[in-house]
Amino acid sequence: MRKPEQVEQLYLDFDGFFASIEQQARPGLRGRPVGVVPFDGTSHTCVIACSKEAKARGVKNIMNVEDARAICPEIVLVPQSPDLYRRAHNALLSEIAAVIPIEAVKSIDELTCRLSARDRAAPHDLSRRIKQRLARHVGPHITCSIGMAANRQLAKIAGKMDKPDGTTIWHPQDMPGPLLPLSFEDIPGIGKRMRRRLCLAGIGDMTSLLATEPKQLRAIWGNVTGERLWYALHGYDVRAGGSSRGMYGHGRVLPPDFRTLKDAHGCSRLLLVKAARRMRRGGFYAARLALWLSFRIGPVGREQGWGGSLTMPIVHDDQACLAALQRLWERAWTELPRGVGIVRLGVTLMELSPAGERQLDMLLDDDRLRLKWERVTAAADRLNMKYGRTVVSLGPWTPPPGGYAGGKISYTRIPHAEDFW
Ligand SMILES: [Mg+2]
Repeated sequence: MRKPEQVEQLYLDFDGFFASIEQQARPGLRGRPVGVVPFDGTSHTCVIACSKEAKARGVKNIMNVEDARAICPEIVLVPQSPDLYRRAHNALLSEIAAVIPIEAVKSIDELTCRLSARDRAAPHDLSRRIKQRLARHVGPHITCSIGMAANRQLAKIAGKMDKPDGTTIWHPQDMPGPLLPLSFEDIPGIGKRMRRRLCLAGIGDMTSLLATEPKQLRAIWGNVTGERLWYALHGYDVRAGGSSRGMYGHGRVLPPDFRTLKDAHGCSRLLLVKAARRMRRGGFYAARLALWLSFRIGPVGREQGWGGSLTMPIVHDDQACLAALQRLWERAWTELPRGVGIVRLGVTLMELSPAGERQLDMLLDDDRLRLKWERVTAAADRLNMKYGRTVVSLGPWTPPPGGYAGGKISYTRIPHAEDFW
């Protein structure tokens, strides 16, 4: 396994997310201890999120309202506004994506990015650009903590070192020093049960944990998770397994007589349906769709790029994906110069969450229409599977000349993908 020599991964966690959004949206709450509660007007409930002012007075997330009031009588309780949080999430993500591509959304207030070569050389500068952009374009009352390290797990731990609004960079050459004073509670993936097992094995602190061998942790965990944790803590390039793959995408070079906007549009629908099928087979939902086009003006013009992306409400059915694609094309049609020929194009479904753990679930109003389209899509999948080809599709299905010659590519293999964002 490769051991990076520079920071390669960023982990961003918003501070007191729900409460800080309330403070951003409602100036009267700024500077005051705020506790977000599930419903208005009930006393037997709990604080689900609190502001930094409330935290400073000892209030914790998930605390009875009575207890919170006892500790902090001046606490202002506000009922949750899920739709506001969802819109804030989308707005914040698109601002971040304007600075650095988002590799994975881990929850409503956490995400991770992979650093470009330029950012690796100047990580503090990257952090400053993200924070500045969020403050200017969304608001200064929503802050985030950022960690950067050789891999995602270390970046996540680093991010917790300086909350709120901090930036912690763990350069590989400085490791494992910063890990040594930590306790097992600070390490994601070491729960109560594992702490007991480690203790029984005579491993009581980070120094002795780091002195183990990969096989030893594998034995203590009883599976490969322990071994992966060993490699992560030692700064190897550990990529998450199947459950957190980054994206599903397809791209294609169009044949010379198939480069009109109309043909490219048809081809993109086909590529998207193929990608969405693979995504469903993998058991994922996507929260963002990207379309990129590479075009020329005139037959010998310079190849130029256009790209756009938009958020989707965590979906996996064809209708939702195709509707999002249509909106991207409407943008492309107005922005592309006249007389272009589309040379290459691609679609990418990203910000995936496994079907079993849709972390944004509480904010979704999965309406009947969505469920209906999911059933329609599942029925089409079964039919196509049965016949081993596309016999049912939503709208036209016109493969480009030369057929769909396995144009499977991942977003990361597209040259200069980041230029298209
Ligand atoms: Mg947070």
